[in-house]
Amino acid sequence: MVAYLRIRRLPALQDNLIPLLEQPGEGRAAVVDPAEAEPVITALDHGGMELVAVLHTHHHWDHIGGTAELLQRWPQAMVVGNGADQHRLPPLSHPVADGDRFVLLDRTVEVLAVSGHTNGHLAYVLPACVMGGQEQPPELFCGDTLFSCGCGRLFEGTPGQMLMSLQRLAALPPQTRIWCAHEYTAKNVAFALSQDPHNSTLQSFAHHVQQLVQAQLPTIPSRLELELQVNPFLRCHTPALQAATGQTDPEAVLAELRRRRQKL
Ligand code: ZN
Ligand code: FE
Repeated sequence: MVAYLRIRRLPALQDNLIPLLEQPGEGRAAVVDPAEAEPVITALDHGGMELVAVLHTHHHWDHIGGTAELLQRWPQAMVVGNGADQHRLPPLSHPVADGDRFVLLDRTVEVLAVSGHTNGHLAYVLPACVMGGQEQPPELFCGDTLFSCGCGRLFEGTPGQMLMSLQRLAALPPQTRIWCAHEYTAKNVAFALSQDPHNSTLQSFAHHVQQLVQAQLPTIPSRLELELQVNPFLRCHTPALQAATGQTDPEAVLAELRRRRQKL
């Protein structure tokens, strides 16, 4: 029987979330985008776990900052990232590219290129499967590309690239759980409401997020089926967002939404 996977997010720095993937039965774990090492080391020591892999979505310091220290402690861990971005990532033992697949903690991982926030930004998808008789939902680790109710800033890419990347993610199964790298949801929801005020699903989501924030609970993971209904950056083709931005071409809608979001 294959040991099931448990996923948690470790708060780090100001508002980063480090996804921690654990196979408790096997004593093995992996992390995505370790902003810093300390919360990861504490969590793994607490559970008596060994780190077997570090995955990177992109090169920003708040996504790679903890890798070197983690490797000092667990030098055997595989280090995964975009081979085309090697020069600005920690030394990779496993450079990957769009379309690649590998096995991590007994799950298949698929690599998707999703540029826009940076060139060479990757997302990692764990397709749904059955483990130990239990249905496991698809999981998406998307760094700073897709956030709950928002998307990343366009540091290196164009609105067209970001639109294409978001469309790739939107095509994943609706039940996909979304593990993004920042807890920006409350601010994103406020912006989304300002652009899409008559969206009743967004209104109830805003209420839900407010309750979570008041209870000091995380809003991540989100689910794709929800994001498709509330996230303005996944709704650039809808009449509501076209009207709000005064644009019709989805790329121009996204560019305008991104420009307005920046000012907030
Ligand atoms: Zn970033
Ligand atoms: Fe970031």
